[in-house]
Amino acid sequence: MRSARQHGRLRPGLTPKPSFRYHCGPFGLFIEPSSLISYLMIVKLLRRVFRRGESPMAGRSTIIPVGRHGIHREHVSPGARRTCEVLQQAGFTAYVVGGAVRDLIAGIVPKDYDIATSATPEEVRSLFRRARIIGRRFQIVHVMQGGETLEVSTFRAAHDVHTTKDEHGRVLRDNVFGTMAEDAARRDFTVNALYYDPSTQVVHDYHHGVADLKQKTLRMIGEPGVRYREDPVRMLRAVRLSAKLGLTLDPAVRAPIREMAGLMENVPPARLFDEMLKLLFSGHAVECVKRLRDDGLHHGLLPLLDVILEQPLGEKFVLLALASTDARVKAGKSLSPGYLFATLLWHEVLANWEIRKARGEAPIPALYEAMDEVLDIQGEKLAITRRIAGDIKEIWALQPRFEKRAGKSPQRLLEQPRFRAAYDFLALRAESGEIEQEIATWWLDFQMADFAGREAMLKPDTDPKKRRRRKKPSGGLAGASGAPNAAEPAASSEG
Ligand code: ATP
Ligand code: MG
Repeated sequence: MRSARQHGRLRPGLTPKPSFRYHCGPFGLFIEPSSLISYLMIVKLLRRVFRRGESPMAGRSTIIPVGRHGIHREHVSPGARRTCEVLQQAGFTAYVVGGAVRDLIAGIVPKDYDIATSATPEEVRSLFRRARIIGRRFQIVHVMQGGETLEVSTFRAAHDVHTTKDEHGRVLRDNVFGTMAEDAARRDFTVNALYYDPSTQVVHDYHHGVADLKQKTLRMIGEPGVRYREDPVRMLRAVRLSAKLGLTLDPAVRAPIREMAGLMENVPPARLFDEMLKLLFSGHAVECVKRLRDDGLHHGLLPLLDVILEQPLGEKFVLLALASTDARVKAGKSLSPGYLFATLLWHEVLANWEIRKARGEAPIPALYEAMDEVLDIQGEKLAITRRIAGDIKEIWALQPRFEKRAGKSPQRLLEQPRFRAAYDFLALRAESGEIEQEIATWWLDFQMADFAGREAMLKPDTDPKKRRRRKKPSGGLAGASGAPNAAEPAASSEG
């Protein structure tokens, strides 16, 4: 059994030999202090290996041959195969692990590949020409092979009393290396603790994941309550993976979620944002959001989403947006986080904007204030990156400009770089019943029409302000009132 841990990493092949120095004194057996320390260390290490009262059998894997798991080697990406091969040739063990193995068995094309190995991050890096170590909480190596990026991680030790946690039990640092069995035990669900060896084509299954996958059950490794406390994001992963793979949550996995949903508050906003993106772009966003609501998880995620989903118009809008995102994922089309978050938060902006307008604020500045306030509130929970926040605002800010269908305004709007996204957004607003369908249809026709056709479509210019302004000599007076014109803000925001 390998159990020597030195400098935070396990030395392969090093077995501690218990060699105590002791004397028989007048009071019986006396062990020298240095030997006692060694003894205690070994006891501690043994406890650690057989921790939590698990039997030694818990560390054994079942070897599943190709006939039972059904993964064809050619279906595994060339980069993943090559990475395992290089590591194995250098004398390390290396496997495709986690979601990719699970997906391959389920007949789904994996979206990324993870490799688990006995090599340390430094050893991995030294073996590949294009590789870099990333991460702090979990140090991993990104290995580039052709156009692929493989995430290579060293087997991690399972958590124990020495693991650094916050006051809620959330694991903060996790860079102690361990055995493959320990690595399997710290993964979240049984279907994610599968290790595929491309050279032998067998799957090492530590927690009956293949059987669970075949029985369409998502089961947690260990006690779900404890595992959620260690990392509350696992609740989100449970929802996402069960929707993606059509799995039923094991009752023990589902039961604590409602009660523990509040733990999501302690997850750093940037991580929550990443997980939300994964969920929303999983191709099963409608199903995921439905499940999040069923399990009372949506409150902690998008603080405003629960409010929106409770208003019929808001709900229709969000569900239409998610359905169209799912369709795009399935069709392999590009996805824009800015567009999606713009839809998720739009009804909150509308509500905020209405309140401001009712207070007598000028419409366009009020819209800008509403946008900022909604994004600020959201940002406390979900670190929407600055670039994405910029995209969101552009889409929102262009909406009032669709109301202007006279003069030069429509043509200018058409030339905006973000016109397409803004128009799709408008079409969704119409489809959900928030605005008249006629306006979206007009804009569709306007885009299709030739120059003469567009001219003919223009509405009569009834804006008195504009007529007055045209008479004045040029000199930038338009902005002097302090309230930008509805036609201006997006143009200025796009610089
Ligand atoms: P997908 O790639 O479809 O999003 P995945 O399960 O592969 O799903 P990744 O984020 O790629 O998700 O993680 C790879 C593997 O790392 C998982 O299969 C699992 O074994 C492990 N893992 C990821 N997140 C956690 C977590 N929060 N707790 C424990 N293990 C995790
Ligand atoms: Mg993955």
